[in-house]
Amino acid sequence: MRNYNSRTRVLVTGGAGFLGSHLCERLLDGGHYVLCVDNFFTGTKENIAHLLPNPRFELVRHDITFPLYVEVDEIYNLACPASPIHYQYDPVQTTKTSVHGAINMLGLAKRVKAKILQASTSEVYGDPKVHPQTEQYWGHVNPIGFRSCYDEGKRCAETLFFDYRRQHNVRVKVARIFNTYGPRMHPNDGRVVSNFIVQGLKGEPITIYGDGNQTRSFCFVDDLIDGLMKLMQTADDFTGPVNLGNPNEFTIRQLADKVIELTGSKSKLAFKPLPSDDPMQRQPDITLAKKALGWQPQIRLEEGIRKTIQYFQTLLAPGAAA
Ligand code: NAD
Ligand code: UDP
Ligand code: UDP
Repeated sequence: MRNYNSRTRVLVTGGAGFLGSHLCERLLDGGHYVLCVDNFFTGTKENIAHLLPNPRFELVRHDITFPLYVEVDEIYNLACPASPIHYQYDPVQTTKTSVHGAINMLGLAKRVKAKILQASTSEVYGDPKVHPQTEQYWGHVNPIGFRSCYDEGKRCAETLFFDYRRQHNVRVKVARIFNTYGPRMHPNDGRVVSNFIVQGLKGEPITIYGDGNQTRSFCFVDDLIDGLMKLMQTADDFTGPVNLGNPNEFTIRQLADKVIELTGSKSKLAFKPLPSDDPMQRQPDITLAKKALGWQPQIRLEEGIRKTIQYFQTLLAPGAAA
């Protein structure tokens, strides 16, 4: 039986978002107490509505660019808009969320002696000149472009995590997350998997930016959450950064064909201009994750896409609250 001392109080910032809501669910399943903090910029109450009746779940509307005083044992810092459309909508706020948000959450971790995990990103590698990307690669990032608010914000957050460790002995963990998809992605957030599935289901043209030869490696959300939780459980001397993602690499054109096939759609392809600084290729080297976490993705693209299609079918069904 759990007693007061053995229970873990876990703070999830960005807990009402796509990844955050799955993480909250899994932490509750594991018997933890979960404090979900979110300002609902891109997250929704619908994502976590099913968790509200759980007495071990608590929801707080709060913007992490402001201080937060709570008592917790572990912090997953996921708050930050993740899709290009959303993080470019208010770029100054995006940088503040990454940088001021990290300072506040690290200050909190320092005060209460909590372990803290940062949801960093493959974007810290920018448009990479090393392929596949290993954690040793320092990246190729434009500091003044449209993606910079996100990329440089996340890079600065990583710096803060390692300085809080060196300067204040805070127990930190940094995950560099590669493209992840699955149920509860926002239907309008512009990311490629959700865009293609929604377009396929509606019979609208599938919008390919550029020639579609750029590559990404897509990880299903359940796999990613496993990786994050395993990382949190590592010994205190393991900080990362560690790549978490699925190393199976596909061109965007291949993804479009797969979505058309699996939705049974009659959608045609529509080629649009490539956004600036759009990385040409991206594939994680997950050697470190395999070794240090004993983790690797289990779910193949086809299976994950099918599950995601099911979610969007329900969401888009007539009468459903989208
Ligand atoms: P998301 O947009 O669905 O979730 C982000 C959540 O953070 C939302 O609920 C949003 O309302 C909240 N938020 C934003 N700014 C906030 C603030 N200032 N204070 C409090 N809450 C705030 O995106 P996601 O895909 O779930 O991403 C979660 C985290 O993982 C992000 O930090 C993102 O950078 C990182 N990440 C995601 C991916 C991916 O492919 N999904 C890849 C790399 C990194
Ligand atoms: N902070 C917070 N919650 C806490 C402790 C600190 O939000 O429980 C914030 C606080 O506002 C501060 C920031 O974290 O600005 C950094 O804290 P730290 O102790 O590192 O620095 P200082 O308080 O000296 O600025
Ligand atoms: N993309 C596309 N059509 C879309 C949305 C995205 O071709 O409707 C492309 C985009 O240009 C990029 C890739 O798909 O090359 C992944 O885009 P996403 O925004 O999902 O993630 P990120 O660029 O951050 O990896």
